[in-house]
Amino acid sequence: MSHIVLEGVTKSFTTDQPVVKDLDLKIDPGEFVVLLGPSGCGKTTTLRIIAGLEKVTSGQVYIDDRPVTNLAPRHRDVAMVFQNYALYPHLNVYDNITFGLKARKFPKKEIRKRVVTTAQILGLESYLNRKPKHLSGGERQRVALGRAMVRNPKAFLMDEPLSNLDAKLRLQMRIELLKLHQELQVTTIYVTHDQIEALTLGERLVVMKDGVVQQIGDPFTIYNRPANMYVASFIGSPPMNLFDVKVVSYDGGLYLKADGISLKVPKSMCHIEQYVNRSVVLGLRPEDITDKETVRPTSTGILTTATVRVVEPMGSHELLYASIGKQDFAASISAGTEPFNRYNMAGQKIDLLFHLEKLHLFDRKTELAIINP
Ligand code: ATP
Repeated sequence: MSHIVLEGVTKSFTTDQPVVKDLDLKIDPGEFVVLLGPSGCGKTTTLRIIAGLEKVTSGQVYIDDRPVTNLAPRHRDVAMVFQNYALYPHLNVYDNITFGLKARKFPKKEIRKRVVTTAQILGLESYLNRKPKHLSGGERQRVALGRAMVRNPKAFLMDEPLSNLDAKLRLQMRIELLKLHQELQVTTIYVTHDQIEALTLGERLVVMKDGVVQQIGDPFTIYNRPANMYVASFIGSPPMNLFDVKVVSYDGGLYLKADGISLKVPKSMCHIEQYVNRSVVLGLRPEDITDKETVRPTSTGILTTATVRVVEPMGSHELLYASIGKQDFAASISAGTEPFNRYNMAGQKIDLLFHLEKLHLFDRKTELAIINP
């Protein structure tokens, strides 16, 4: 198990803006860290810098306290797994898995031993003689993982390894990856733009935007205590609702007000006097805006009337897209016991509970969190 440290890593390809800016990151031995962000935010470049496939413009990379910034990839002892599997089509599974070991002149006996163990772990024993074209996408990705595993590397670097799989297989491979990590405990850095994949796989997430880290934290913290509006609206499906409101002091209490919205701020959250008479952004996740029948024991729910726009039945619950004044949002309501006609609901008024114990507030200018529950 190895630890990896990035210190002030910056990368520019041209004289324009750097694509990775002053990145500091410490990854503990055996940790599973996910780099998450939209296309073009610099995740792959960061991974390639760790692998040695890309040179830094400035900064340092350490693996187990050894500076590796200027070392060639083959001297870093890390294994990459790519989205497109990168298997040799003319070689069978056995030869694909062992290719790197043969190139490094490992003894035949040792190679066989490692392949047998790896194939067992990945359930590939009966596929060893097959060529990649006779494998499914999931099986190919397992071969690519096997090729990385037989090397016993210091770290796995995975670049969107599940993106080419269909939704069901992705879910299955996610669980397999988690089991594999629990078993092997190899330090893993995993790149994805899929927030569900990040939340389910990562022990820690690094959320990036335009080459800049927005927040580093465990999935619970990233989801429940987003550091800024960007993280709040990137994570969650649908993401957190953001409402423009004004903080108003009235009758001894503080209220968040907008056209059709008047929410009394819970006492425990009243340390925002400096925002009185200022505009702020109120954040509430869809699951924290519910139908009025949903009672929560500790809830400070406030009824608010909205207009229904679209309803999406999700089986276990319904997603209601609605609006208050000019502000659109999503709410999660209990699934009814009868089939319903969604078109009858469009345009109707509905009373919804805003569960204010889950309230987030953000500074309108800096977009940083003022209050997280
Ligand atoms: P994706 O999920 O689409 O792969 P990403 O977050 O991994 O995106 P990177 O591949 O790291 O993003 O790219 C970051 C930025 O750097 C992009 O704007 C990209 O166009 C640019 N870039 C990447 N490689 C090069 C290169 N070799 N030369 C010039 N620009 C590059």
